[in-house]
Amino acid sequence: MGKIIIDKEILMKRTRIVAGNWKMNKDFEAGLALASEIIPMIESEVQHDLLTILFPPFIHIHALASLSAGKKQFAIGAQDCSAFESGAYTGEVAAAMIKSAGADYVLIGHSERRQLHSETNAFCYEKLKRAFEAGLKPIYCVGELKEQRIAGAFEDVIIDQLSGALQKLTTREMERLVLAYEPVWAIGTGLTASPEQAQEVHAFIRQWLATQFGPDISNRTSILYGGSVNAVNAKELFGMPDIDGGLVGGASLKSRDFTEIAKANH
Ligand code: PEP
Repeated sequence: MGKIIIDKEILMKRTRIVAGNWKMNKDFEAGLALASEIIPMIESEVQHDLLTILFPPFIHIHALASLSAGKKQFAIGAQDCSAFESGAYTGEVAAAMIKSAGADYVLIGHSERRQLHSETNAFCYEKLKRAFEAGLKPIYCVGELKEQRIAGAFEDVIIDQLSGALQKLTTREMERLVLAYEPVWAIGTGLTASPEQAQEVHAFIRQWLATQFGPDISNRTSILYGGSVNAVNAKELFGMPDIDGGLVGGASLKSRDFTEIAKANH
């Protein structure tokens, strides 16, 4: 792939984001208590422009949307949505239902969905379409396994995940998409990609976006890093030019740690 020529005219400030993926943690009361700690803490301590998105389990979405209503720097998201619109899909939650409960974002293609539920790139594409139709903004996750990194194959894996799910999206849809690079070997393991390793992949993704969708989409798309981000390593990671924020798992369950990560993203 050739080098991107960045046109200064279209260089724009990307949205800086810190997102907390609670995964399958916190019952209803504990989730409400955690959000009730996080929201005022970030409100009082984070002075810079930052969008904080909480991704609780489905059952918390409506209550958390009420807690954060009217606060422009906060949004609520779902950790997944159905690839189908509605109907006989027991256990599934449709994108439109998620939107109607007050969420604005949805995670698609998280490695745990890919690994534990065998979700393919083509299936992720269907989910992305349902999300856009419902007015949600997806955060699409990509990342290589440890053996793929060792084999030096991460570029092929990332291209496959990007092109397999995004290639058929329209420019208008791409304008509403956020990406997350999450090396699977770094998720929940305490191993973090070094800032240089993460930057290399983020720049590679941005270059792919430029080739496929043009420099405007490439320059405006926020790309988050995820994989054992914590209060200590966040600042260095977020200081890299193509890293616009973080998708945080474990550390998002502790209000102090999550707030420190939010403070580090400017
Ligand atoms: C995640 O699940 O998206 C994640 C990055 O988890 P952790 O921060 O715990 O590695």
